[in-house]
Amino acid sequence: MDYLVTIGLEIHAQILTRSKMFCGCSADYADAPPNTHVCPVCMGLPGALPTPNRRAIELAALTGLALNCRISHTNVISRKNYFYADLPSGYQRSQYDDPLCVDGWVEIEGDSGPKRIRLTRVHIEEDTGKLIHTNDGGSLVDFNRAGVPLMEIVSKPDISSPEEARRYFQKLRQILVWIGVNSGDMESGALRCDANVSVRPAGQQEYGAKVEIKNINSFRFVERALAYEIERQIRALKAGEPIVQSTRGWDEISGTTVAQRTKEFAEDYRYFPEPDIPPLHLTDAWIDERRAELPELPDARRIRFIEEYGLTAYDASVLTDERTVSDYYEQAVAAARTRGVTPKEVANWLTGEFFRLLKETGESPAHAAQRMRPEYIGEVQELLNNGVITRTSAKEAFEAAFREGRSPAVIVAERGLAVIGAGDALTDLVRQVIAGNPKVVEEYRRGKLTAIKYLIGQVMKATRGQANPQAVQQALEQELAREQTAC
Ligand code: ZN
Ligand code: MN
Repeated sequence: MDYLVTIGLEIHAQILTRSKMFCGCSADYADAPPNTHVCPVCMGLPGALPTPNRRAIELAALTGLALNCRISHTNVISRKNYFYADLPSGYQRSQYDDPLCVDGWVEIEGDSGPKRIRLTRVHIEEDTGKLIHTNDGGSLVDFNRAGVPLMEIVSKPDISSPEEARRYFQKLRQILVWIGVNSGDMESGALRCDANVSVRPAGQQEYGAKVEIKNINSFRFVERALAYEIERQIRALKAGEPIVQSTRGWDEISGTTVAQRTKEFAEDYRYFPEPDIPPLHLTDAWIDERRAELPELPDARRIRFIEEYGLTAYDASVLTDERTVSDYYEQAVAAARTRGVTPKEVANWLTGEFFRLLKETGESPAHAAQRMRPEYIGEVQELLNNGVITRTSAKEAFEAAFREGRSPAVIVAERGLAVIGAGDALTDLVRQVIAGNPKVVEEYRRGKLTAIKYLIGQVMKATRGQANPQAVQQALEQELAREQTAC
């Protein structure tokens, strides 16, 4: 029997703000000693009054617009009540009715072509603290993370396979980082995902029981956890065992999902509007201001790169994976144009040498770009196009410019990388090679024109590859013709 798989993802993304969601504590807790970024508000002390973070709401709305959502004019912050040791107030401020953004979609490469994954909502909430379990069985709690602004991005169950789930998660990360609302740092938990999955026999109308896999923080784990869970559910269905709506965790060591608790329902949380925060009313003018803040998004830029610069789909997609790289590419193209260097030639340097060197140094494109100025790329390609340097020397000059942050033209001059030009030195070499290879010269003269290839090789060898092969051939032909006339 065939089974249909239905997957929906809930992504939690920390919003990149300086302060927390409802207080002035710093949200940058990464290197802070435990419990140093705290105050009565984020410690949930009775009577402490919250103040919503304007920037967090702006960035969450920006996210909604980037994800094709509608922005709600009326927003209610609610209390989601549950007890947990890392939640000092006993409730999480979140949104229930009237979330900030509704509907929307994200386009991904689906299993059979482009596919839109629809979104239910994007709402704002606050992060919890962090529990640290010690070796002696104790638990410590750090509240630095408590109250850090979060967005929850909820998809409709439009995802049909673990691969699609991964691609959707990757696409979301790309967009969030691109528009500057999230760090994309999954290892630290700044971006994490809960996956809902159900399986039902083909032909059955109603969905199967939903199992939620909590807190997955890598693309690979999303795919693996879902693949495992689908297998497990199908096996259970085949054996006639019921699937219980429940929450499970992904255990990367055993490669399995592990039961955590049977699923609570929304009514268990006793949501009610936060009495300390009045509803937020967002005007059309405010929403338009957010829209004006929205940069060109990766898909639009990828298509423009193909149309405007004549790039292949592959190059365009590689160059628009990260916004810093695609900005850098456009700066390099603009500078290269004045030197008659084409966008395609610039793209080749980026997708080739630039990425290779980034891999080697392990640094971010933005970091490397501080040394390797975008105009250097046109510079090195122009030297190559004008026959001043060979391709081998161009690579050497490019790498030196990348590592040292100096102009390729200066490097070429300093290292003497310029090809041995026609006339002077090259003519001398050509004469020596002709004199040293009388037999080959004789063959050439008797009409075996391909013999010149051997002579070119000899000159190239003598220059250690520093000559332009065309220039060498020309000089050889000239010299052989001249000698003949002389005879
Ligand atoms: Zn605080
Ligand atoms: Mn949530």
